Order: sequence, then structure tokens, then C-alpha cells
Amino acid sequence: MKPMPKNSTIVALATASGEAGIAAVRLSGPEAFEVAVRVFKGPGFGPKPEPRRAVYGILSHPGGPLGAEKTNGYEIDQVIALPFVGPHSYTGEDTVEFFCHGGRMVIRSIIAACRAAGAEPAEAGEFTRRAFLNGKLSLDQAEAVADLIHAPSEHAARAAIRQLLGGLDEQLKAIEEPLLDLLANVEGSLEFVDEDEIEVPQSEVLKVLSESVANLEDLLTMAPAGRLLRDGIHVVLAGPPNVGKSSLFNLMLGDERAIVDSEAGTTRDVISARLPRAGSVFVLHDTAGLRSDAGRIEQLGIERTTRQVEEADIILALVEAGQTPQQLPGHGAVPVVLVYSKGDLAPGFVAPEGAVLVSNTAGSGLDGLWGAIDAVVAGFRLEEAISLGVVLNERHLHKLTRCQLELKDLRDEIEGEGLGDEVIGSMLGSILSGLGEVSGRVFTEQLLGNVFRRFCIGK
Ligand code: GDP
Repeated sequence: MKPMPKNSTIVALATASGEAGIAAVRLSGPEAFEVAVRVFKGPGFGPKPEPRRAVYGILSHPGGPLGAEKTNGYEIDQVIALPFVGPHSYTGEDTVEFFCHGGRMVIRSIIAACRAAGAEPAEAGEFTRRAFLNGKLSLDQAEAVADLIHAPSEHAARAAIRQLLGGLDEQLKAIEEPLLDLLANVEGSLEFVDEDEIEVPQSEVLKVLSESVANLEDLLTMAPAGRLLRDGIHVVLAGPPNVGKSSLFNLMLGDERAIVDSEAGTTRDVISARLPRAGSVFVLHDTAGLRSDAGRIEQLGIERTTRQVEEADIILALVEAGQTPQQLPGHGAVPVVLVYSKGDLAPGFVAPEGAVLVSNTAGSGLDGLWGAIDAVVAGFRLEEAISLGVVLNERHLHKLTRCQLELKDLRDEIEGEGLGDEVIGSMLGSILSGLGEVSGRVFTEQLLGNVFRRFCIGK
């Protein structure tokens, strides 16, 4: 790791802005305690405060350069100061958290006071970035902090906290360690170039590589789960005009969200709604009906529908009970649940195996429909991703996929023409540094910039 420049002491509101009973302002850096004593007076609180002992006292502006204020300061709030002595803090630095009244003016004045006392405003994600740089969190754990904060569902929050507790790191280590051992053996053998018997047998190299490829493949199959946890499970209702899509959309939501009309082509665009259900978030999309003789405006809606169908996680393909299902445009590999609608108009109709029958008018068939959706969701490995704490994002996916391809190439080349230990060593080194970028064992400023851009100020 590069030597770190001496950090400034930073300050920011750590809780949400707005009015609340309590807010927390966080101060972190080498001069956190010096800054704190300039603004806070409380029994026993000094430049070497007792770690983690909360002190009740008065927070004041230190006076000095801030517009028209008097130089001898003024009281801002009664607060509790909670000091953490580095490295035993979130950032790994000396930190003080001030718990104040959650008023806009109070918060603004406390931050201004800390700045007048020598602190600088924190940048977005800077506390967590420092935690990473000080070895308190791996990069994927830092991402889990953001995922936990932004979790849209109970499942997403559970997965994020498990990743924060080291879930993904454990999986990555299980892949990295055999490769690191192999690299050590290969590099070790290079020191005894003339002694053939020291060379690492290629069968052993191939065995480790094949196992790593398989383990990475297994990890990568959890990528869809990560996306579904973060973005919700996108369910698209598709089918010909008037089949009952909008009515079913409303029935599923238990709400009058989409306009229902007996004239074909009423839903000209995609209407979406989020539905929290069974610990997950489902995002339902009602679409324009798909028919070939549509007018121009309706045609635009149909084009959007086709795109929506392509990006769906699950498609509900509607067809009126008793009629023949249409071919859906562009669904490719997306799982489809065939839904026969208007069951009330076709008494005696029995849906074929795997399909469901609903009646929006009678409000029937909803349990069967959700059962079929849940069966598809079960194939997305959500439960496993949650219990392992593996919430892969685009960044992880990009790196892991590349590592897997490089591992396969290396294996194939050894199997084909065979490679010398030196080449194997250098290829393994490059693969391992790619893997290391997922956990942040290997990082660049640009990588950190990309990761922490997702954070807000105060995190
Ligand atoms: P969409 O164009 O596919 O969105 O279909 P709508 O939901 O707008 O419904 C079209 C027409 O079918 C409306 O007149 C609805 O009242 C009617 N409809 C929808 N669902 C049912 C149903 O389950 N039974 C009956 N009998 N009519 C339905």
C-alpha cells in the first residue's frame, strides 16, 4: 500500500438532514480531539478523552472568523460527545460524534463551529473511504455499507449486513488462497531452475486452476441475485390489448394504479409500481398491448414494451382463457409464467400444467399466480446470496468474469502446449491482482473514486 499523506480532520452530519429529535455530527482525523475541545465543554472531556465514554455538555462556536459573530463564541446546543480513540473507531482515526438536537440551524451551526475550530467539510463517502484506507473494511464491505443504507427490502438489508460482516470476503478468500499457494510454489520453483524435480507438476497446477474456475463460476451464478436484491424483481405483464393486463396489475397491487378501459390500446406506455412482498421488492410493469395493427403513438408504447420485456426478470404472458398464447417479442432467456385471464368467462377451462388461471373480475387465482412467481424467484438463488452475504454488483461482476476468463485461458494453454513456470507465475500474478481489486487488496485511486462516488456526504 502507498504511504498515506497526513489526513485533514473532517466534519459532516452523519444522520439524515431535516428536522428530527436527534442528529449526529461526526468529526474524524488526527486533530479530532483538539477541534472537539475548542467547541465542546463537558466534565472530564479534554484533548485525551476517555475512549467511548459519553460526556454531556455544551457545544459552542469557538468565536473567530465567521461573519458578524462575537469572537468569544456563543452556545449552540446541549449535546452528548462520544469520543473514539483510533484505531478503534469506524474510520480508524480519532473520532468524536456529537449527538445534538436535530434542527437545521443547530446542525449547520455545529458544523460551522467545527470548521472554525479547524475541521474541513467531509467529502461524499470520505468516512468510509478512510475506514477502507485504514484497513477497517475491505472494499466490498465498504460497498455493503452503501447497500445496507440504500437497501430497498428486508432481504436486501439482510444480505448487505452479512456482506458487511465478511460474507463475500470469505468467498473471495476461498478462491484466492489456493491460487496464492500455487503462485508461491511456482515462484519457489523458479529459484531452483536447474533442478527439474522442483518444478510444480502441471497436473497439480491444472487441478488448482480447474477448481478455481469452478468456484468462480459458482460465485458468478449469484450475480442475478445481487441485482434483484438491489433493484427489485422486475415483473412485466405482457400480452395482446384487452387481455386484462391493467386489471391484473391493479389486482396484484391491490390498488387502482393503471387505467382500465374496455377499448383496446388504453395503456399506451409502461406503468410501473413497486410492491414490497415476502421480504423482497417486486417492480410490476404494466405494458402497452402487443398487436400488429397499432397506431403510431401506440406503436411507440409497443416498442417500449419490447424493451421492457427484454429487461424483465419474469414475464407474465397473458392470454384469454380458451385462446392460444401469442409468441412474445424479444423475451429470449427471461422466465415466462403463462397466465390465462378472464377465467370467469370460460367456465370449465383448466389451465395447462405450469400455467395459471386468474379472473380479475372475480379476484381469483392470485395465490396461484404468486405461487408460480415465487417458484421462478426460487431459481434466482436469493436465499443463498442472503445467507452467504454475497451481493455482487457490476464492479464485482466485471472483475470476476475477467479473472475467470483469464484462469480458463491459462488452464487451456497449459493443457495445450504447456507453459513454463515463469509464464504461469506472471499470469497468476495478474489474475490475483484482478481478484484483489474486488476486495480492495489491490486498488488504485480511480477504483476508489468509482466506488465512493455512490456514497453521500456523512457516510
Ligand atoms: P389490458 O388492455 O390488457 O390492460 O386490459 P384491461 O385490464 O384494460 O381490461 C380490458 C377489458 O377487459 C376491460 O373492460 C376489463 O374490465 C375487462 N376485464 C379485465 N379482466 C377481466 C376478467 O378477469 N374478467 C372479465 N370478465 N373481464 C375482464
